[in-house]
Amino acid sequence: MAAPRVAVVGAGVVGLSTALCVADAFPACAITVLAQRFTPGTTSDVAAGMLIPHRAPETPIHVQKRWFKETFTYLFAISNSTAASEAGIHLVSGWQVFKNPPGEELPFWSDIVLGFRSMSEAELQKFPQHRYGQAFTTLKCDCPPYLLWMEKRLKAKGVQLHTRKVANLWELHSEYDIVVNCAGIGARQLVGDQQLIPVRGQVLKVHAPWVKNFVRDGDGLTYIYPGINSVTLGGTREKESWSLSPDPSTTKAIFGRCCSLEPSLRAARDVEVKVGLRPSRASVRLQREAWSHEGAKLLVVHNYGHGSGGFSMHWGTAKEATQLVGECIAALQGSSSRAKL
Ligand code: FAD
Repeated sequence: MAAPRVAVVGAGVVGLSTALCVADAFPACAITVLAQRFTPGTTSDVAAGMLIPHRAPETPIHVQKRWFKETFTYLFAISNSTAASEAGIHLVSGWQVFKNPPGEELPFWSDIVLGFRSMSEAELQKFPQHRYGQAFTTLKCDCPPYLLWMEKRLKAKGVQLHTRKVANLWELHSEYDIVVNCAGIGARQLVGDQQLIPVRGQVLKVHAPWVKNFVRDGDGLTYIYPGINSVTLGGTREKESWSLSPDPSTTKAIFGRCCSLEPSLRAARDVEVKVGLRPSRASVRLQREAWSHEGAKLLVVHNYGHGSGGFSMHWGTAKEATQLVGECIAALQGSSSRAKL
């Protein structure tokens, strides 16, 4: 049979990593990434890119842990390679602080990040409003450089990248054998998934190169994440808000909250405000389907709904989506050899 034609819809962190993983596993496939927007225009460009997982309530913890571990191991190797600066991947140490001790003393990811431990009394003196804290080292992606680096690697592997808005996946059936749906919040319209909701996030990117450690309030709402070129200050989580316009009063509130955790930020310059819609769902949708209509067929793999954890989980979910693509290829090969009999 001819090489399977695979379209990956979406060029955020999930689509690009899935396309890379499929290209590595099945080099004979003709792969195209189709997206309405590429970097710097995706939700993934807005993210802080920290590897600190958020729980998806309906995905089993052992699965979330596997996805996180695979992503951490993959990015850790990049951070230790000559590609680290171009890819925008680096280690960052810091603290997660709590006003009251958390219900769960050890988060499920505590043995995957490096050097996880409770903060000492001396360290806690830095945060007079907080009574408990955890110190650890994790990884951070500088998102636009990481997306660009993935695009460059895809092109080097012969993958085509095309700007195109897809109205529905079925429109691709005559051009492709397999479609991988990595459309983020766009999947709500693309496949009519009403379980997928936007959770709006507003962040500030500031120039404050003296801030070297991350600080995250345990409620996850206030955070300071230093990257290579800027520090991300957050944030907000507004369920079912579709607004992409920055809200000035929210900007002021975020800045005030972050300055109360790290007073030196009062001297930060060049504030840039960004808004993104997290594609949130009770569980990530990783699923294979076979569609057919009047004798025509299309194999579909879904990989969307990563909510607040797209960067933390992307390589693990890309690997799982690639396995599903492999099952689709086996099904195509099975049907083409049956057709020959
Ligand atoms: P997107 O990046 O939105 O990409 C979707 C792609 O699909 C785009 O290319 C889009 O153009 C395309 N598309 C959509 N519909 C169509 C269509 N009909 N036709 C063609 N193309 C289409 N996660 C972390 O792990 N760590 C963090 O620190 C972190 N911080 C965040 C901070 C904020 C403020 C926000 C908003 C999110 C944060 N996240 C974080 C979450 C993370 O950004 C998301 O989980 C991740 O970006 C989702 O990636 P995605 O590729 O699924 O979606």
